[in-house]
Amino acid sequence: STSWQGKHVTVAGLGVSGIPAARVLAGLGARVTVVSDGDDERSRTQAAQLEAEGVTVRLGDGATLPEGTELVVTTPGWKPDKPLFAAAAEAGVEVWGDVELAWRLRGPDAAPWLAVTGTNGKTTTVRMLASILEAAGLRTAAVGNIGVSLLDAVLGEEEYDVLAVELSSYQLHWAPSVRAHSAAVLNLAPDHLDWHGSMKAYAADKGRIYEGNQVACVYNAADGATEDLVREADVEEGCRAIGFTLGTPGPSQLGVVDGILVDRAFVANRQKQAQELAQVSDVNPPAPHNIANALAAAALARAFGVEPAAVREGLRAFHPDAHRIEFVEEVAGVAYVDDSKATNTHAAEASLAAYDPIVWIAGGLAKGATFDELVVRSAARLRGVVLIGADRALVAEALARHAPQVPVVDLDRTDTGAMAAAVREAARLARPGDTVLLAPACASMDMFVNYDKRGEAFADAVRALAAEDA
Ligand code: ADP
Repeated sequence: STSWQGKHVTVAGLGVSGIPAARVLAGLGARVTVVSDGDDERSRTQAAQLEAEGVTVRLGDGATLPEGTELVVTTPGWKPDKPLFAAAAEAGVEVWGDVELAWRLRGPDAAPWLAVTGTNGKTTTVRMLASILEAAGLRTAAVGNIGVSLLDAVLGEEEYDVLAVELSSYQLHWAPSVRAHSAAVLNLAPDHLDWHGSMKAYAADKGRIYEGNQVACVYNAADGATEDLVREADVEEGCRAIGFTLGTPGPSQLGVVDGILVDRAFVANRQKQAQELAQVSDVNPPAPHNIANALAAAALARAFGVEPAAVREGLRAFHPDAHRIEFVEEVAGVAYVDDSKATNTHAAEASLAAYDPIVWIAGGLAKGATFDELVVRSAARLRGVVLIGADRALVAEALARHAPQVPVVDLDRTDTGAMAAAVREAARLARPGDTVLLAPACASMDMFVNYDKRGEAFADAVRALAAEDA
């Protein structure tokens, strides 16, 4: 075990993950320095608070490694190519992410982790999984981006039997010793390539979730890249590769037969071909991508020994979060749907596949993505497109290349008021029976604090439109 007393730890970054990490480390007796590139009003307020608690904060210089640093704890905002990490490597200093820190701080009898990653569907799947585990009478929590933070779950008063843990590729990048009971990679599509540097590096980071798995590595049978990652992983003896599919499952898979979710991987009674788990209609909403999420959650729960009845009960008790394909209102015969959480092309494709005809509101920060494939696959369903945000030209160019017949309104705006204007333009393009869909395929930070705020701006604009229409 690590002795923290007097240890020089440098935390890279303030913010939602840096501040709690600094507090926890200081609480353990470490000598903590937080470094941050930023030096604005907000960072100064946060810095003052931390300094009152005995933490040293260095603002406006995130590049140099503080003298005497013995360990760096980093936060997801920091790209791996930052000079601080090169300096750490040079000095032979280890770098841990927030997840690695939580893993190292957990007690000897700590609850095992059922871990989930993937380009899209992580939060949904982790919450479905927690719902299933709860239905099985287990003490659990959905841990990660929403709900309980990993550090709180590991260090808090509350006792758990098992944790449903969401892990991002950023977190996995700096989590070398994390070992899950079982883990799932839901899908792999280009995202965050500016952070990871390449698709190969992104996939490799996701693949770390399988390293050292004890019972099951759950992969997506429709996404060969996820199965490749299982093959490349070094797992405990007896750990099985378990697939999920929207079709008829093979012998070590979960899948769908005649509208029923079935399990052929964990069948207790050898006479039986397959174990029925739930109806497709038990999944909320029963859209294809979400059934895939449900199957992945079920696979992890079954790997942990949960009975079929609890899988069904847990799925039925689950309700999706806001801004994920959320119906807002119908105005003048047009449905308005908020999928602000579609922050990349793969997610946007899932929701664009669910409606027809669509007036699509898109644009934002592209994060290195290209839009050609998305446009090719969705073009036939587009009534029109309204573009906002910093990288809207990339979307416009893809539309010009592959869907020149589709009318496009390029708003050429990045102010927060642009969303209301976009909704008005969309209303003009839409006809009764159409769906106006906010599925930006881009991150929100060019215009909004986060995707929540972007979704709220959309919903507010729709409600204003409805009020005028009434
Ligand atoms: P994450 O936590 O990985 O960002 P969420 O569960 O919050 O994922 O869903 C994000 C968005 O991704 C949703 O709004 C939806 O559009 C889309 N989505 C959810 N599950 C899937 C999936 N399995 N495949 C593709 N897209 C998905």
